[in-house]
Amino acid sequence: MPEGIEVEYYRRGAEASIDRSITSLMADDLYYLKGQTSPSLLQKALIGKELIRARRIGKLLLLDVDGGDILGLRFGMTGRIIVDGSAPIEYLEYSSERNNPAWDRFIINFNDGGSMRVRDPRRLGGVELNPNLSRLGFDLYTITMQELSQVLSSSSRPVKSRLMDQSEVAGLGNLLTDEILWRASVDPRRPADSLDEKETYILYEHFKKTISELTSLGGSHMGILQDHRTRGGLCPRHGIPLERYKVGGRTTYSCPEHQKG
Ligand SMILES: [Zn+2]
Repeated sequence: MPEGIEVEYYRRGAEASIDRSITSLMADDLYYLKGQTSPSLLQKALIGKELIRARRIGKLLLLDVDGGDILGLRFGMTGRIIVDGSAPIEYLEYSSERNNPAWDRFIINFNDGGSMRVRDPRRLGGVELNPNLSRLGFDLYTITMQELSQVLSSSSRPVKSRLMDQSEVAGLGNLLTDEILWRASVDPRRPADSLDEKETYILYEHFKKTISELTSLGGSHMGILQDHRTRGGLCPRHGIPLERYKVGGRTTYSCPEHQKG
């Protein structure tokens, strides 16, 4: 699924749609319109206007519209963005490799003949005008050591659940979180507030390095652990079988040797 890194790619791709006049929309899938958003509100906010900026908080892409509205796009499990027929990410891990225009849930057409579309096979993403941003946590690219420390020390929930809680840290999904904890030698089940200052610092260093590395390498599926996330998979560091279990309902892999306690 798209995690914060993939949505950062989408944001960069969406920059090609800035400063172009919007002439029409396809927003007739009402299930895909979230909150109070309706086709008529979208028409009113967007037609004849331009997008002036592409921002991102966590997994939420934000397109500022001249006139003051904000168009929020969420991508769920399988959503991608396509601008003028070209996609920042061609195929998502664990999604269909077919590329069917029938999966276009939302389209903005520009007066130069180009378009920006959200293609989402499983339809779990959504479009929301002026989304509420107050419930989003610290963004995965800009979070500071102090902020991470605050997120962890204020809860005894498992550290993995805490990191994946979008109202605490915005943008981490299952793959990134397992990769970061594997690199930092932290058991995903540990109570978040059991990490001492030094462990939190080591976790923070691996967090930042993982995000930056995987952004360069092409996505959240490019981690060292990724190919070993299978039944019977071995720790790439120790060659012993990884443990497989659920944390907060999400399938989790960790090494019983270097991520214990
Ligand atoms: Zn190991």
